[in-house]
Amino acid sequence: MFDVKDMTIDELQDLVLGLGEDRYRASQIFGWVYQKGATSFDEMTNLSKKLKEKLKKVCYISQLHQVKEENSNDGTRKFLIKLEDGCQIETVLIPESNRLTLCISTQVGCAMGCKFCITGKLGLIRNLKASEILNQICLIRDSLTEKQGISNLVLMGMGEPLANYKNTIKALRIINDPHGLQFSNRKVTISTAGLVPEMERLGSEIEVNLAVSLNATEDDTRDYLMPVNRRYPLNMLLNACRKFPLLPRKRITFEYVLIKGINDDIDDAKRLAKILRGIPCKINIIPFNEHHTSDFKRPDNEAIKNFQQVLLDLNYTSIIRASRGSDILAACGQLGGSLLLH
Ligand code: SAH
Ligand code: SF4
Repeated sequence: MFDVKDMTIDELQDLVLGLGEDRYRASQIFGWVYQKGATSFDEMTNLSKKLKEKLKKVCYISQLHQVKEENSNDGTRKFLIKLEDGCQIETVLIPESNRLTLCISTQVGCAMGCKFCITGKLGLIRNLKASEILNQICLIRDSLTEKQGISNLVLMGMGEPLANYKNTIKALRIINDPHGLQFSNRKVTISTAGLVPEMERLGSEIEVNLAVSLNATEDDTRDYLMPVNRRYPLNMLLNACRKFPLLPRKRITFEYVLIKGINDDIDDAKRLAKILRGIPCKINIIPFNEHHTSDFKRPDNEAIKNFQQVLLDLNYTSIIRASRGSDILAACGQLGGSLLLH
């Protein structure tokens, strides 16, 4: 049995043609599934009974279920979602004044082993299917009661999206499809720890915003914090960033987790400005979110401000990212923490 949510519209068209039906039926089915939230063919009133029966014999429409929701006192909501095989993932909804951002996961756990990240501590349990990536969006969107729908998507939850390249890109195509979830690619951002070959491939195959978790300005420190740097050191990574095709008027986001005594020196800030020179970018400073699996500490507020000031003085756009949802382990790098405890 095929899951409709694991198919691009082209694949569904082939299936429909194979059943002896017209191609446009695929667009109708997509509309039902992604715009109206249908989870059965019986709901699709503009399909003939005969077609519905044929479809039911070869495919189905998956959906995911929420196990638990936690609400932060800053409005952030974290959803624990159960997958068909019993694995669990987390998805985070972040309301801001003018947008509603959903942060979705692409893997159960993560193999990249970054020293500061709870998800990394889980190791890789498995890749998510395209349908599981999409179903996080469908589930949360359909459960929203407020008028404002999800405006922005970030692939910054559990996992390294580019290590699950095939399924992530398929999900991105459906997210962006005018018959699918209908998100403009300007509203979608994929974050990577720096898998250089996949970054190059991504840029050549799809238009999307890119965020890169940089977190250090020298190879020694980055090797220590992020083992992926031993494979793709800073100069390779930054060259790939320079070449990455950006959407009009968009810039690369560099994420920099600021850790006390590790990468928070004024010299780090100056070096950061130097190595990013020439790349259209903005820098998100994320003060380290402390957690029980790490001895790292968040720098004090003055050190954080001083770090930012160096960047601002050198004309970089740089924001200190408020740590949303840290009281419920929903902040950056804390996802999977509740799974680790259980
Ligand atoms: N694997 C991808 C997508 C996950 S995004 C990536 O690493 O980019 C997770 C983000 O949270 C990354 O920018 C990472 O640097 C950041 N992060 C991880 N652990 C953190 C922590 N303890 N405190 C603050 N940010 C953290
Ligand atoms: Fe994986 Fe990203 Fe966490 Fe590193 S920061 S372990 S790449 S999820």
